[in-house]
Amino acid sequence: MIELKSPAEIQRMQVTGRFVAEVLAEVGRLADVGVNLLDLEHHVRGMIKRRGAESCYWDYAPSFGKGPFRNVICLSVNDAVLHGLPHDYTLRDGDILSADLAVSIDGWVADSARTVIVGTPAEEDLRIIRATEEALAAAIEKARPGNRLGDLSAAIGAVAQDYGYPVNTEFGGHGVGRTMHEEPHVSNQGRAGRGLVLRPGLTLALEPWFARTTDRIVYDPDGWTIRSADGSRTAHSEHTVAVTEDAPLVLTRLPDSHP
Ligand code: MG
Ligand code: MG
Repeated sequence: MIELKSPAEIQRMQVTGRFVAEVLAEVGRLADVGVNLLDLEHHVRGMIKRRGAESCYWDYAPSFGKGPFRNVICLSVNDAVLHGLPHDYTLRDGDILSADLAVSIDGWVADSARTVIVGTPAEEDLRIIRATEEALAAAIEKARPGNRLGDLSAAIGAVAQDYGYPVNTEFGGHGVGRTMHEEPHVSNQGRAGRGLVLRPGLTLALEPWFARTTDRIVYDPDGWTIRSADGSRTAHSEHTVAVTEDAPLVLTRLPDSHP
């Protein structure tokens, strides 16, 4: 079932969204050569606790992971792209780090991810980050009443194609609101003009992610961390977005910040 949210409920999701944006901005600032992923995890735990927020990841146990997740943020490095389990790893110069965070405040969830480069960037890493950000912006632009879900998927897929990145369709975006994962699924590839008609009050987490040279994935033995099957580098960008009567509303963006 798809639950449409009232403007007041969307405002409450935006409160959560701004906190998620603050945390991810802080992670981006802290992610530097010599910093351990576990330090980032503990820093985020502190921020969540001080805010009185609740992690959507802690104890999360879907069909794919191995047992409940015992961290509050996903940190995926280089060829790891989704659900990266924070572990004892010290960031190196040139690493590409995707941070994905979903929390709930007063019962309302927001979900966002961003990818940053640690230290000296390589041009091809900047390029794949730019591709996911452009794909996300293109999908957001389509999140308007009367458009269809397939328009969002097609917008993401078109950017990937322009850049020459293959698209995996096993993991994509999703509805979000009272819980982290709600209907509908939003594929990162699809046909324009197909699927659910978008209506005001629909809230979606849109999340293009690409690997440079493959659409196939492999799982680490931890059962969580998902990597590109060929070891190529990856990026992931996600925002929680509300369809409104007017322009699409990005709930996980700080005022005056881009993207
Ligand atoms: Mg996420
Ligand atoms: Mg998500």
